[in-house]
Amino acid sequence: KQFDSSLLHDKLKEYFGFSSFKGNQEAVIRNVLEGNDTFVLMPTGGGKSLCYQLPALLMDGVAIVISPLIALMKNQVDAMRTFSAESGIAHFLNSSLNKTAVAQVRADVLAGKTKLLYFAPESLTKEDNVAFLHKIKVSFYAIDEAHCISEWGHDFRPEYRRIRPIINEIGAAPLIALTATATPKVQLDIQKNLGMSDASVFKSSFNRANLYYEIRPKRNVDRDIIRFIKQNEGKSGIIYCLSRKKVEELTELLVANGIRALAYHAGMDAVTRAANQDDFLMERVEVIVATIAFGMGIDKPDVRYVIHYDIPKSLEGYYQETGRAGRDGGEGYCLTFYSYKDIQKLEKFMQGKPIAEQEIGKLLLLETVSYAESSMCRRKTLLHYFGEDYTEDNCGNCDNCRNPKPKVDAKAALKMALEALRDIGDKFKADYLINVLVGKTTALIKSYGHNKSKWFGAGAEHDARFWGAVLRQALILGLVDKNIENYGLISVNKKGEGYIALPFPVTVTLDHDYDEEEKESES
Ligand code: ADP
Ligand code: ZN
Repeated sequence: KQFDSSLLHDKLKEYFGFSSFKGNQEAVIRNVLEGNDTFVLMPTGGGKSLCYQLPALLMDGVAIVISPLIALMKNQVDAMRTFSAESGIAHFLNSSLNKTAVAQVRADVLAGKTKLLYFAPESLTKEDNVAFLHKIKVSFYAIDEAHCISEWGHDFRPEYRRIRPIINEIGAAPLIALTATATPKVQLDIQKNLGMSDASVFKSSFNRANLYYEIRPKRNVDRDIIRFIKQNEGKSGIIYCLSRKKVEELTELLVANGIRALAYHAGMDAVTRAANQDDFLMERVEVIVATIAFGMGIDKPDVRYVIHYDIPKSLEGYYQETGRAGRDGGEGYCLTFYSYKDIQKLEKFMQGKPIAEQEIGKLLLLETVSYAESSMCRRKTLLHYFGEDYTEDNCGNCDNCRNPKPKVDAKAALKMALEALRDIGDKFKADYLINVLVGKTTALIKSYGHNKSKWFGAGAEHDARFWGAVLRQALILGLVDKNIENYGLISVNKKGEGYIALPFPVTVTLDHDYDEEEKESES
């Protein structure tokens, strides 16, 4: 092959100063150099940028990098330039440039100085840019933050849907798509929308072994947070709140309690926001209280804790935000406060949005509820959500593994649930099946006549929480399929049929009942 391993390592050292590749980087880079379509799923901090930067430097022509955020683009271009004597090596074209600057960029590109050209998707689709790109040789297209193409990602951007048609217009070249969102549904969407179903897929593990996950009932949240921060004095932490108002209230409260904290949200003026971010990065304050506007592209390696004052809207959001802790591989404490009332609040916010968006939103929220209430290993649940099989029984680094609830035998119950599901068919969601089993009459159950079925009330000796845990176990074991294209309808699959024919021992831990736990600890 044209690039042997020692040459790649030399170039890595020469251009970036690193002596070895991280994770899948080398395999990915090789695949790009060979001219194949490439799909990279790698958690934040995994080193995605290098996967297209290095090949861009080594290949003929100019690599077109599509990225959604102007600030991130600028950071990357600045970083590239520090490695190279040629300041024209990387450029971006977006709405922040004036005519003279655009002309300079184009001149550098045409003179062959430029190896990487960054675009925001909306600039790429501009006619004069398309006409310009016709004139140059494109080595490959890199689509960063590729989940933006999917309505199931946490940051859907309709402009991303225009990327493929524009590429067709400019001229075909290999694609590399990259994302830190790894749910199977998003992955499918990306490959479909970019027309790269045959791409080689490189998926890294999303396990962050150094992160400790804890969900705590939201009972005395202010007191708990102040206590937590004081116990972790001198360490850097981020606290996420849902609303700007809460960000400001909490910041005030913390400051009043002698904690060095600053606020950050999109409603603040840009200067204050940047100053606060800087103070946090430079460790002039310990704590930043923020909405999710904070954190994109922020690389502070030694954030020691991330607290969620309110539960996030989706597990992707949760994973991204908690992922900002412990990026240096050291301790990272992820503490989330949960109350079902917050879920109802989030559902209310969705009202008025387009129906499809609401349905997606509700489903994502349901996964979050399930994660929060489950007493199964958090890591296992989270990784399963990302399509990854975590086979350890006890991760030793989440609240549920450190304080396991007693397990109860569920062999017979699991078999019953599967048989009942097989009988009622594949048109229903989990809560429907649970209502049938416990014998709860709802309008929907009546309309299908399942209140007359032999399964109606067949599982009434257990409550809905128990059946919820059984079904979650069935999903984790892969006995039941959940149709994400179709709003979470569940059905028994082949493996599930196998279980019905030949059941094996299974135990479940009962879900947390945070409302009950609240009452208990108050009395
Ligand atoms: P991502 O986009 O996946 O979040 P980045 O591309 O920003 O990750 O890289 C994360 C960090 O890892 C950066 O600070 C980068 O310089 C560093 N990095 C990337 N590749 C390597 C490597 N091979 N060796 C050491 N550090 C690396
Ligand atoms: Zn665990």
